[in-house]
Amino acid sequence: MITTDRAIAAYLGLAIGDALGATVEFMTPREIAAQYRVHDTLRGGGWLHLKPGQVTDDTTMSLALGNAILAQGRVDALAAAQAFDAWMRAKPVDIGNTVRRNLLRFRRTGDPEAPYSDHDAGNGAAMRVLPVALATFGQAEETVRAACRVQAHVTHHSALSDAACECLALMVQDALRGAGKNHLLHQHAHPLVARHPEFGFRAVRQIGNPSGYIVDTIQAVFQSFFDTDDFRTCLIDVVNRGGDADTTGAIAGMLAGALYGMVEMPAAWLKTLDEDIRRSCETQALALLPAG
Ligand SMILES: [Mg+2]
Repeated sequence: MITTDRAIAAYLGLAIGDALGATVEFMTPREIAAQYRVHDTLRGGGWLHLKPGQVTDDTTMSLALGNAILAQGRVDALAAAQAFDAWMRAKPVDIGNTVRRNLLRFRRTGDPEAPYSDHDAGNGAAMRVLPVALATFGQAEETVRAACRVQAHVTHHSALSDAACECLALMVQDALRGAGKNHLLHQHAHPLVARHPEFGFRAVRQIGNPSGYIVDTIQAVFQSFFDTDDFRTCLIDVVNRGGDADTTGAIAGMLAGALYGMVEMPAAWLKTLDEDIRRSCETQALALLPAG
């Protein structure tokens, strides 16, 4: 079944990209090349001193959100905020500044929706959009977009973050239906750039050292995703750009997993990925997809 295979590959791709990129987070491409020539192994380390195959907030927040969606039977703002709050209390290895600030605000106010701010255009909502894409698979486009915003606004309430989250979820869904890369480019990536020219990733420099700003992140991910032709090359290309490499790796891994499926998943990476995380990703991908 192409859809379930690709859904599992998307979730494992997210986790593998996170684990691969975390080693070189905050490094420049030059520093990465000096240390590793090409970083292409799940070796752990990095500024978080991770074990090989260990993941960070990108994957664990996605799993927390997915569990909340499964418990509620839908994408619910309060349930998502409570799940993220419980996740933060459990002392995750890493947490973004915007996530922390708006979860502390939720603790104070009980309001699961962050106030609108153009300054909150980080990549923290986009990195965890996959469970929403899976849970709303087969629903109307407007329903999918609204569900993306519900989960995003718990911590990131910004037009650019929203646009990226919605675009990524719709891309994943079309890839699960068997769409090819050209379709994803013309139906989703180009329309995103048409609406928000900031995201333009063609005819701009090769993005190196991408920051956590959603525009930098999407530009780097789209350059790697659209300019490579297999899962492994895509992920190596994006994480060796350094910067917010765990998150660019996670998002690129999600897209490439959804596009290429399990057949392209490198066995060595899959074997090194944290066993509990691997099982949770596989289980959740199947549970989130609507039956039938
Ligand atoms: Mg991270």
